Amino acid sequence: NVTLEQEDPEVYALVQKEKWRQFSCLELIASENFTSQAVMEANGSALTNKYSEGLPGARYYGGNEWIDEVENLCRKRALEAFNLNPESWGVNVQPYSGSTANFSALTAMLAPHDRIMGLDLPSGGHLTHGYATAKKKVSSSAIYFESLPYQVDHKTGFIDYDKLEQNASLFRPKLIICGASAYPREWDYARLRKIADQHGAYLMADIAHISGLVATQEAANPFELCDIVTTTTHKTLRGPRAGLIFFQRAPKGQKNSDLEEKVNFAVFPSNQGGPHNNTIAAVAVALKQVATPEFKQYAKQVKANASTIAKALTEKGYKIVTEGTENHLILWDLRPIALTGSKMEKICDIVSITLNKNAVHGDVSALVPGGVRIGSSALTSRSFKEADFEKVADFLHRAAQIALEVQKTSGKLIKDFVIALEGNEQVKQLKSEVE
Ligand code: PLP
Repeated sequence: NVTLEQEDPEVYALVQKEKWRQFSCLELIASENFTSQAVMEANGSALTNKYSEGLPGARYYGGNEWIDEVENLCRKRALEAFNLNPESWGVNVQPYSGSTANFSALTAMLAPHDRIMGLDLPSGGHLTHGYATAKKKVSSSAIYFESLPYQVDHKTGFIDYDKLEQNASLFRPKLIICGASAYPREWDYARLRKIADQHGAYLMADIAHISGLVATQEAANPFELCDIVTTTTHKTLRGPRAGLIFFQRAPKGQKNSDLEEKVNFAVFPSNQGGPHNNTIAAVAVALKQVATPEFKQYAKQVKANASTIAKALTEKGYKIVTEGTENHLILWDLRPIALTGSKMEKICDIVSITLNKNAVHGDVSALVPGGVRIGSSALTSRSFKEADFEKVADFLHRAAQIALEVQKTSGKLIKDFVIALEGNEQVKQLKSEVE
């Protein structure tokens, strides 16, 4: 019963420092959140010691009586949280993360070299939706499958569904993936279903970012029209780090009647080994929380806060991609003020605001992202309301103005820019106010 502090003071000290960083910074990374004490307790429990390859009732190891109950509880709560009828939908709760959930979903639906279409990374899509550059197939979803991404309209920032439909009729995909990491707008699932049906393709929604909003009916429901829905559990859903794959059940002989077997087999034994039972228990705890009225209120506030920051920055004269947001994030296009996303990320880091540089559609080079992504879920978990987000927008405005001033006189390299920021009095003042 030796504690972490006694056993390994070095790791303990680093954990404490990270805890302090999370506490003292303004956390605006759209894919992050603060999970609860209860979730962390389950995640750090004795369940981490157990092997349980297989599914409840059909394991390759003995001693799984309680683990089976945990996994069944998690599956039941996952369906309940998304209001799904167990006769129409099933779920695999074993994926270690969103990336492995996606690769397993692809493994279930496709044969090697089948064609997929997902939202391009520079348009806000995720790596695992078939990302390749002109020079290199980056994600395994592009290495093992043939990928033709679709894009947002470079003028509006909204998905160009007409172009997607045209390209699909040439490419004839076997799978269309919707969902994104940096798209502030709602999805037209009906249009996507229509396009998929024209080619007998599967339609998959990766709702990793918005699953907390979907579960609370604060975002459109992808389950009505998609064959498979995947998600991470640690973004707006506010759980531990893991993934889920929901699959449609259908009467035998009909389309999708074999998805259950295919998905389960793709997760184990095709792509994973033993499930992380401690994480599955923690996901179960998070899903119980998701089904409460408090979480519904939380999701509403997340959206209100994201809209507040979009409006506040617009009023200060900045350009927000698509001129607003319908979910938990905004993309701030910094190109009109001639600041790069990298410089904005750096100054924010120095003044204890955590966000990330992000490509903006139409960027000349992927190496110089034209904007930053800002999410409201984490600070909303810390009870921030609209007035607090107005204040956050003020801080961001000041950071951008200081960055513009400093870059006039600092050297061209980001390293020179950082050195100049570190000695700057306005930066010190802003940091002390933020903290
Ligand atoms: N899908 C989307 C849309 C994401 O944004 C992410 C991560 O940010 C993932 C999948 C991958 O999740 P993980 O990092 O858990 O593998």
